[in-house]
Amino acid sequence: MHIEDETWTDLETTDTNLGLLPIGSTEQHGPHAPLGTDTFDAEVIAQNAAEEYSDSVIVAPSVPVGIAEEHREFTGTLWTDEMTFRQYVRDIVRSLASHGWDHVVIVNGHGGNIPALEAVTAQIIRHDNAYAVPFTWFEAIGEHTSSMGHAGPIETSLLERTRPESVHTDRLTDAAAGASDRWGDWQGSVNLAVDSTEFTENGVVGDPREASAELGAELLTAATDELCSLLDAVRSHDAAPRE
Ligand SMILES: [Zn+2]
Repeated sequence: MHIEDETWTDLETTDTNLGLLPIGSTEQHGPHAPLGTDTFDAEVIAQNAAEEYSDSVIVAPSVPVGIAEEHREFTGTLWTDEMTFRQYVRDIVRSLASHGWDHVVIVNGHGGNIPALEAVTAQIIRHDNAYAVPFTWFEAIGEHTSSMGHAGPIETSLLERTRPESVHTDRLTDAAAGASDRWGDWQGSVNLAVDSTEFTENGVVGDPREASAELGAELLTAATDELCSLLDAVRSHDAAPRE
């Protein structure tokens, strides 16, 4: 059940302690994919898992802006600072918990959100009446994680499976021509770059010409299965604060 589609009276009758909170980003995804890619991907995986999971799961409205200042030089990219983001996410989880949906998996679509989500969920577990963990979908796709890139084959494939109309397939050759083959500007183990313009001309990392709807279907299934297993593991944890 999606909170925004229901009435409060219908939500009052739900009998579950499980919530999913999709979190994305509004940021450039090259010349071929929309700025909402990370949000769309998080949403579709949350939606799919809620449909396939054995019990009912509440799906919260998506958070569309995250920590994405690294893409600030590409038009349309929006961002918030880490402390604002953490406080906002914590408030949403607390309000979900106040209604009884106190076991929350944050379904994340953006790499830049990961450190903040790890930090805020640890705070929530320790100090709030909720148990919350982050789930970043592209870390749950087995061997494919290593070819993630940015607006590369992985994200483009998922879009081709779930929102094919949003991908400008006639621009894939140009997208590949301006792409970088890795995220960052590395000296040994240290990334010297701060902004993505320092290592990619058009915002793309990886070759989106390798994308396909078939791969997208495989990724969707893999991430959904992992998320359902996570819901099984999460639901029995104690939601009481640990202080
Ligand atoms: Zn992305």
